[in-house]
Amino acid sequence: MTMDDDEIARDAAAALASGTEDDLAAMRHSAAHIMAAAVVEIFPDAKLGIGPAIKDGFYYDFDLPRPLTPADLEQIEAKMREQQAADLRFERSEASRADAVARLEREGQPFKVEIVNDLPASEGETVSFYRHGSFTDLCRGGHVTSTADLGAFKLLSTAGAYWRGDETRPMLQRIYGTAWNSDDELDRHLWRLEEAKKRDHRKLGRELDLFTFHPESPAAPFLHPRGMALWRALEEWSRQVRREAGFHEVRTPSLVRRELWETSGHWANYQDNMFVLDDYDHVSGLKPMNCPQEILIYRTRARSYRDLPMRFADYSTLFRKERSGVLAGMFRVRQLTQDDSHVFCRDDQVDDEIRLALSLVRTQYAPFGFEPRAKLATRPETRLGSDEFWERAEARLRERLEEDGMSYTLDPGGGAFYAPKVDIFIEDALGREWQMATIQADYQLPQRFDLEYRAADGGFERPVVIHYAIYGSFERFIGIITEHYTGAFPLWLAPVQVMVVPIADRHLEYAESVRGALAGAGLRAEVDGRSERMQAKLREAQEQKVPVMVVVGDRDAEAGAVSPRLRTGESSQGVPLDEFVADIRGRNASRELWPVAPEGGSAA
Ligand SMILES: [Zn+2]
Ligand SMILES: [Zn+2]
Repeated sequence: MTMDDDEIARDAAAALASGTEDDLAAMRHSAAHIMAAAVVEIFPDAKLGIGPAIKDGFYYDFDLPRPLTPADLEQIEAKMREQQAADLRFERSEASRADAVARLEREGQPFKVEIVNDLPASEGETVSFYRHGSFTDLCRGGHVTSTADLGAFKLLSTAGAYWRGDETRPMLQRIYGTAWNSDDELDRHLWRLEEAKKRDHRKLGRELDLFTFHPESPAAPFLHPRGMALWRALEEWSRQVRREAGFHEVRTPSLVRRELWETSGHWANYQDNMFVLDDYDHVSGLKPMNCPQEILIYRTRARSYRDLPMRFADYSTLFRKERSGVLAGMFRVRQLTQDDSHVFCRDDQVDDEIRLALSLVRTQYAPFGFEPRAKLATRPETRLGSDEFWERAEARLRERLEEDGMSYTLDPGGGAFYAPKVDIFIEDALGREWQMATIQADYQLPQRFDLEYRAADGGFERPVVIHYAIYGSFERFIGIITEHYTGAFPLWLAPVQVMVVPIADRHLEYAESVRGALAGAGLRAEVDGRSERMQAKLREAQEQKVPVMVVVGDRDAEAGAVSPRLRTGESSQGVPLDEFVADIRGRNASRELWPVAPEGGSAA
């Protein structure tokens, strides 16, 4: 089937706006119950883990006597359809904790027993069960009324999953499914999954010679010349955006002693994610974040209210100790580079700085065609600071979002323990939502490091630090846009912007001068000087998704002209070289979304 991306984007936006997410989650979670009932029918001794709703679907974890096969999934799915047709109501019952444990023990459900035993006292003295048909499951609730309310669904895959994510606990079998309100929506989702497979950045990265991964350095990309060209184009844009906004670039060391991490709180709260090294008679950590080091720069001088705001950009590499078993290509790497921003400002400048951050997010995403959305993450249950502080901090962020006009939703309780934050999301050409930037006004680090500045009245005040990165990490962003554009990057990002193709060897010299003119204009051009047929070279450039190919033959060489053809198929002949170079330079400088990619599914 074919699908218009705009349509997908609209649907996803509508789903987010209309508050149907909760209903969908209830239906998906109900699907997990129905799946568990089907599994128990086939494997009466199955031990049940948990079965939550997740984005686009649901899963359930089981301890089973043997590995599941694709045929099992079909059978489970068939049994789910039987239940759906039988219109069974979900019925709630309650039991005391002791009765629940006794019952679950009797039924041979050790994982459920553990869940009940581990429930905090605040959950109350009783627990609830939900029954449909002959299947009963321990559950807090949040279901549809009847199995007939289950929408269109499909079981997708199985995976191993440790109980409670703990490698020392039993490995369970997880079954993933997807569920939607209509067949149409289900079909669309399945199409998206199929399309996502085709666009897999690990595959495209190799095919387009951008980057590869090697077991010698797990979870870290090796950037090839073309991948690095893409990186530099992204970096240049980010630097331009920061420069115009009054940022100054700094660079701080990777290897930093333990004492700094103790002061910053990373040693106590983030050590598990750090590579800790023995540095002769000291213990050091590879930095997972830049902020504490930039604070050292701030503290090298007495600062006055007139020095603020001070805006720092930092593009140095960060290290985070992700489990190396996690293989998600660019989406989860252990060495990453952010377009990191830290603003030291006065409290009365926070509003302006948040305003600036939101506008920079918009500016930086604009050439990609991304429309940012926000979530305002508010006070969590465990937090520092008075209610007054939170009231004010949340109101300030909300006001800035309102003022900016950025569409946003609330994420109650999602804030950090020391401050609320704004999380920025974008949606790609497949309608997948990606969390990108987080903007946070931080009152905590300045206190930990006892930062100050001399105020207008001669006294000392504490500055605020505002943290954000707009791409997030370059690695992850490259993964996202490689899939978003299916590798057919717009001109300004294309690793090779123009491929010059001489018709015969005698045109090589002129081809070189065309390349030279383009390079002189700051453009990335190559000559395909191999003794292949012209058509074969064009086909290859097309496969490599080079936006502009330029054929040069006798007539072009004599006239000082070129015959360009675009990736999208349009071509022209005898364009004066100067004119061509000026045109391409203009489009590159304005970061136009040009030319539109040949793939119907891509946004560019
Ligand atoms: Zn439930
Ligand atoms: Zn920071």
